[in-house]
Amino acid sequence: MTAPLSRTDTLDLIGNTPLVLLKGPSAAAGCEIWGKCEFANPGASVKDRAALWIVRDAEARGTLKPGGTIVEGTAGNTGIGLALVANALGYKTVIVMPETQSREKMDTLRALGAELVLVPAAPFSNPGHFVHTSRRLAEETAGAVWANQFDNIANRKAHIESTAPEIWEQLGGRIDGFTCAAGTGGTIAGVGLGLKAFDEKVRIALTDPHGAALFNYYACGELRAEGSSVAEGIGQGRITANLEGAPIDTQFRISDEEGLEWVARLLRDEGLCLGLSSGINVAGAVALGRQLVAEGRRDARVATILCDTGFRYLSSLYNAEWLKSKGLPVFPWLT
Ligand code: PMP
Repeated sequence: MTAPLSRTDTLDLIGNTPLVLLKGPSAAAGCEIWGKCEFANPGASVKDRAALWIVRDAEARGTLKPGGTIVEGTAGNTGIGLALVANALGYKTVIVMPETQSREKMDTLRALGAELVLVPAAPFSNPGHFVHTSRRLAEETAGAVWANQFDNIANRKAHIESTAPEIWEQLGGRIDGFTCAAGTGGTIAGVGLGLKAFDEKVRIALTDPHGAALFNYYACGELRAEGSSVAEGIGQGRITANLEGAPIDTQFRISDEEGLEWVARLLRDEGLCLGLSSGINVAGAVALGRQLVAEGRRDARVATILCDTGFRYLSSLYNAEWLKSKGLPVFPWLT
């Protein structure tokens, strides 16, 4: 076992996360399924990377000045990443979040010192949507910049420049497929572009939850959503700037039940406590692995993202009453 390097700057703790072979998913797919442990970032999610890249980009452009304020609309994880990065660099954060997100994310943001603005959940076409509210707040606040994670491609650049090369190196330069779901699309587009730059044959698959419009878009060119999902942080209804030109070769649609099944199995059998988007990603990775194996590629290697920690969802995903209220199966050990 090698110890991680020592660091002289806390921001250097972002990224360089471990990649772990997932035993149950590999057995189910009949090939290697690897998970990138993004819950190991300081803010416990994949969004720390986007937060750091967005802040560094705003500094480089000169829009974010010393002591300035970063304003963002977020499902929570980007806000947590931004608050930590901002604290380390002497900025303030104002975070706008739909009130439907987990209690833990709200408590965490307040604990980190961010100013939290909760708005009712609304469709993107509604001016009260959290993204539009955050843009207006940034415009009205002196010395503020709007992080704009959905359409600011510094987000996907984080994954082109860090996540993709890390996965490539961790797998010794041999990977056959990569998949994950999209919130902003920064991860799927950035890792996709980054891996294709190493080897254009790597198959990039979008894993879409129900209630999102991207599966139909990549399957037949039509942005159309069906069903719904309780997964936080994923499920997109439009082609964000981060998704433009994303090299998507194929797509899978995964239900909350399938994602939850992997959340439960990874916790019970492999000691990993994850959020639902990770479970949905793993279900997608198993589907991609099976597709490659069916084509005769028995030695296929697939990677996906373990986006955030399950500790962020103790009052929802890991709560029997909440699961029942959503009509979802309850983990046997919670009953
Ligand atoms: N999972 C979780 C828990 C998230 O918070 C996010 C970010 N919204 C994602 C997945 C998706 O990442 P991206 O925004 O890069 O598409």
